[in-house]
Amino acid sequence: MELHILGTASARPAGARDVSGSLLSCDDGIAVIDAGEGFQVRYARHRKNLKNHQPTGSLRAARIDAVCLTHGHLDHTWGLLPWLQTMALDRRNKPLLVIGPSSPDVLEALLASQPLPSDAPPAELARQFHSWHALGATSAQLGYGVRWILGDATTDFWVELDPVNGAVIKLDAMPQPAGWKSVKLVPLPTNHTVPSCAWMFESKEKAGKFNRLKAAELRLTSHQQTELGQGRDVTLESGEILTSASFRSPALQPRRVIVSGDTAEQSSGISAVDGVDVLIHEATFLEATASHATEHLHTTAKGAVRTAVACKAKHLVLTHFSARIKDGSTALNEARDAPSPESLSITLANDGDRIQVDPQGAVAHLSWTGNGWAA
Ligand SMILES: [Zn+2]
Ligand SMILES: [Zn+2]
Repeated sequence: MELHILGTASARPAGARDVSGSLLSCDDGIAVIDAGEGFQVRYARHRKNLKNHQPTGSLRAARIDAVCLTHGHLDHTWGLLPWLQTMALDRRNKPLLVIGPSSPDVLEALLASQPLPSDAPPAELARQFHSWHALGATSAQLGYGVRWILGDATTDFWVELDPVNGAVIKLDAMPQPAGWKSVKLVPLPTNHTVPSCAWMFESKEKAGKFNRLKAAELRLTSHQQTELGQGRDVTLESGEILTSASFRSPALQPRRVIVSGDTAEQSSGISAVDGVDVLIHEATFLEATASHATEHLHTTAKGAVRTAVACKAKHLVLTHFSARIKDGSTALNEARDAPSPESLSITLANDGDRIQVDPQGAVAHLSWTGNGWAA
């Protein structure tokens, strides 16, 4: 899995940082996580950079199957509609899944075809979905199918909106991107001023590889190889027993990447995960303004470390910095000063960075230098 981080500012662009938007690329396809203002500009620039400096790493829009929104604040959503329309101009025909969090009472109101509750916030995603539909984001007008899903991760309550006939149907489960087999999308409840969730990308556990070379060296028959390959031990004429386990490399553990969105530290959903390869977590504030984090349900750099410790993350990447943070190294130093196990490594995200996790769990943070990437 590889995460491409296209925006690392909170609330508004500041200096070299733009607002939120990332792409998670895996064998199954690509999921976009949040698409703040100007998303398509950053996406096009990043693709050009990949083409010039990393010709193997394509992020073609045709590989994108899903958009996972963490919450409705506009620094995470305002770039989605224009980009959907650009893909229409590019004659996309592949279906797209758009999923975001909402609250149970809004979902109930949608199902009952009633107005949204009066306390639903301005940034409620149901409002944004409705206005985007009115502005032309229907499958008929875009020329490609879009499934519009809203849900509450805590109660596992999911609905699908049909923009053409206005129908809202309740779903048995959150849909996965079409055709995805090896990586699963998991929404994790988080704690922000509007309904919110983090997104976890979890690869499936894989059986180890059969050691064909060893089988060939021992001149095993194809029948013996099949037996070993299917998990049965084989007794040779000499009486020696070959165990099937000795012909297989260890199983590959599931790999997990979490992108937090905006949240107070140690949110229930992220803390409940037991073992994470990479946690990309917001660190909007520094210690000097920790009260802002508490008040607005954000996290400090140290709070991000406490969250990483809670979910047993191996690597933490800090992102979503307030415009007050002129020098990211201050945030990184505060995080590195926080108590954490030796095993936790911490880095700071800048726009254009790439985070790779290989099947064995090795993590690489590639920093965009303006002229290629450096490890
Ligand atoms: Zn934000
Ligand atoms: Zn927010």
